[in-house]
Amino acid sequence: MNLDQIREKLLARKAEIEARLQRTHKHIYLKDEPVSANFNEQIKQTENDELVMTLEAEGREEINQIDHALQRLSDGSYLSCTTCGEAIGEKRLQVIPYAEQCIACASMTGPDRS
Ligand SMILES: [Zn+2]
Repeated sequence: MNLDQIREKLLARKAEIEARLQRTHKHIYLKDEPVSANFNEQIKQTENDELVMTLEAEGREEINQIDHALQRLSDGSYLSCTTCGEAIGEKRLQVIPYAEQCIACASMTGPDRS
């Protein structure tokens, strides 16, 4: 398994999320349209903002996971499950490059399912 390649992949993914977060951030906080006078329009707008904020929170969470994976790549623990210490498995890491648990542990504890 090529760890340099994984690192590249993680960094690319992180850059992509950061770019997206910047866009959604602008969407929420730098609105230039005046608040709509129409009540239904306002509700739609609010729902949209909530969705955007949910996406933003998910993006930040994913960045945290990526940072953690990069840390694990540096200290050499990347390939081992944080719970049982067994190999996480190449196939699983290709699907979820920031997975920290093997599939058995993840299915018992984690939100980290594939
Ligand atoms: Zn495990």
